[in-house]
Amino acid sequence: MSSFSPAQSRDIKHQMHPYTNDVAHKTIGPRIIERGEGIYVYDDQGNKFLEAMAGLWSVAVGFGEPRLVEAATRQLQKLPYYHTFTHKSHSPSIELAEKLVDYTQGRMSRVFFTNSGSEANDTVVKMVWYYNNALGRTQKKKIISRKRGYHGVTVASASMTGLVGNHRDFDLPLPQMKHTSCPHFYREGQPGESEVDFASRMEAELEAMIIQEGPETVAAFIGEPVMGAGGVIVPPDTYWGKIQAVCRKYDLLIIADEVITGFGRLGKRFGSDVYGIEPDIMVLSKQITSSYQPLAAVMLNDDVASVISEHSGRLGSFGHGYTASGHPVATAVAIENLNIIQERKLVENAATTGAIMQAALRELAGHPLVGEVRGLGLIAAVELVADKESRRPFDPLGKAGAAVYGRAHENGLIVRAIQDTIAFCPPLIITPEQVSDMVARFAKTLDEVQKSLQ
Ligand code: PLP
Repeated sequence: MSSFSPAQSRDIKHQMHPYTNDVAHKTIGPRIIERGEGIYVYDDQGNKFLEAMAGLWSVAVGFGEPRLVEAATRQLQKLPYYHTFTHKSHSPSIELAEKLVDYTQGRMSRVFFTNSGSEANDTVVKMVWYYNNALGRTQKKKIISRKRGYHGVTVASASMTGLVGNHRDFDLPLPQMKHTSCPHFYREGQPGESEVDFASRMEAELEAMIIQEGPETVAAFIGEPVMGAGGVIVPPDTYWGKIQAVCRKYDLLIIADEVITGFGRLGKRFGSDVYGIEPDIMVLSKQITSSYQPLAAVMLNDDVASVISEHSGRLGSFGHGYTASGHPVATAVAIENLNIIQERKLVENAATTGAIMQAALRELAGHPLVGEVRGLGLIAAVELVADKESRRPFDPLGKAGAAVYGRAHENGLIVRAIQDTIAFCPPLIITPEQVSDMVARFAKTLDEVQKSLQ
């Protein structure tokens, strides 16, 4: 007899889940999350969890924010849907586009809306190709991303993503996408190498790749200011300045994928501000609506926007767009969400409470299971190792991460296990007291897992 609830049985029978082992799902079953409030979510069994991942790195203002519900309701009543194709528009998309341009302090000048980060990055790839065709540089099409970078799962986005699991048996990556090394000093640094030297090696490797491919064939470099889904990788000192210089030298567009880092996650408005990145194209999503509505934005600087604009004039149309591009309800929710981020000074909170979170997690650095603690602002990761001294990973990889992930639920905590790296990315509204509670629950979990692994 099945011990599943009727809802679990129906889920297993009919729903195929993203990023899920479907065979295991049939025996494990889903945990059904029913409601959320602040930094907490509740399942249908009445269990309460501190959501230390803000859903999927995204619920900035917390769960159950009435102002977003009201903004969505108002817009649903007034104009629930209209498109933005063929010279149509509506006020929420106009207002949000203007607000986003202002938010970048004029560094970006135009916005193209999509529904998801993946679609936004696919849009970016098409825009980069279109841009170079418009300039008559028909060979300049390759895009360099990084191993362990994450840019989504649609065909072009997944190709830029540097994770094997997103390529294997999907016949990806596309041949135009190349992957340079992951700038993870703890794992990729060589004995005796300083962080700055490591960054120089990453720079030299990128330059060698561009030269080997032929600079006339390489169009762009894409990166997350701090890598998220690949394991929360904070770049080594001087890295972005060096990478940017190589890109400029060979006339590559710089694409900042700020889907996680945008809107304050690192304690400044954008990750680009933290690292002095001057992107030609910026991609935003997730915290743009606190994920209350699906929405992403591709932001273009004046140069890229003008070239694409003029080319659409020559061809008669920019032949790309989604039924829900700039969706009125999604853009209305985004406007209110960004107002809340501003009024409640959540970017500032990410800096101050983020520093408290970073310090509290670093206090766990001496724990026998902990290899590295890393992060910035309100995003962090704790990498677990089988042996601290040699940094030897667990065998099989992911064994300890899975144990922590499961055990954390018993302690009322939702984290993310990226193999054996445990990620934290709580809502931007988190308080210092809640950070202490979160870290205490995690420390308890680590102790319990350590005992179970002995
Ligand atoms: N880019 C980055 C940096 C992301 O973290 C993600 C999602 O986690 C994406 C793109 C893809 O976004 P989506 O899942 O909305 O397609």
